[in-house]
Amino acid sequence: MPVVVNFKICDNAKECGGVAVCPTGAYTYDEEKETIVIDNDKCISCGLCERECPIGAIMVAKTKEEYEKIKEEVDNDPRTTKDLFVDRYGAAPLSEFFMIEETDIEEKTKSQGLTLIEFYNDDSIQCLLKSIPIKELTNSFPKDTLFYKVDVTEETMNKYSIEELPALLVFKNKELLGKIDGYFENDHKEELISKLAEFIK
Ligand code: SF4
Repeated sequence: MPVVVNFKICDNAKECGGVAVCPTGAYTYDEEKETIVIDNDKCISCGLCERECPIGAIMVAKTKEEYEKIKEEVDNDPRTTKDLFVDRYGAAPLSEFFMIEETDIEEKTKSQGLTLIEFYNDDSIQCLLKSIPIKELTNSFPKDTLFYKVDVTEETMNKYSIEELPALLVFKNKELLGKIDGYFENDHKEELISKLAEFIK
C-alpha cells in the first residue's frame, strides 16, 4: 500500500530520515529533481519511514481504506509550509519572500524601523519541531518590523563578528542594535525573547 507524504508540512529535504531507514529503496531522494520520491511497488509497508518523521508528515497506509482516509486528511489539512516553517528561526527557508542575498544586507538595514535578519547556512538548519516561530520571538517588536533570512558566507560572518549560526541581528537605520549567535531550542525560547527585547529598549 502507498506511502503518503504530506508536502504541506514536509520540507522535502534530502536529509529526510525516511531515505536512510527504508530497507527496500522505495523511499528515496531524487537529487536532480530535488524531491523525495516513493516507489510504491518496492514498499513493504514496514512503517520505518513513518517513525522517522518528527512532524508526522509521512504516513504509511496498510489498506485501501486507510490510504483513502489519509489522502482525505492531507487534502483537508489547512496547514501550509508557510505557517509551519519559513517564518521560523533556525529552519530552512522555503519562501522567496523572506530571502535576501548577502549583497542586499546593507540596503535592507537602511529602514528607519527595525529590521531583524537571520543569518544561516546549510549546516545551521535545525529540526522544524525545535525551531521557534519568528512571530513569537518578536512579540515585543513594533508591527512594522521587517524580517529577512540570508544564507551567509564566512566573509559575512566575519564582517558582523558572528561566531555561530544561525544568528539573529537587529538593525535600525543601518545601525546594528544587537546580535545573538547560535541556536536556541524551544525550551529556551523565553531567554531568546528577553535577549531580543533588550536590544530595542
Ligand atoms: S514503509 Fe518501509 S518499505 Fe515502505 S517506503 Fe517506508 S521504509 Fe520504505
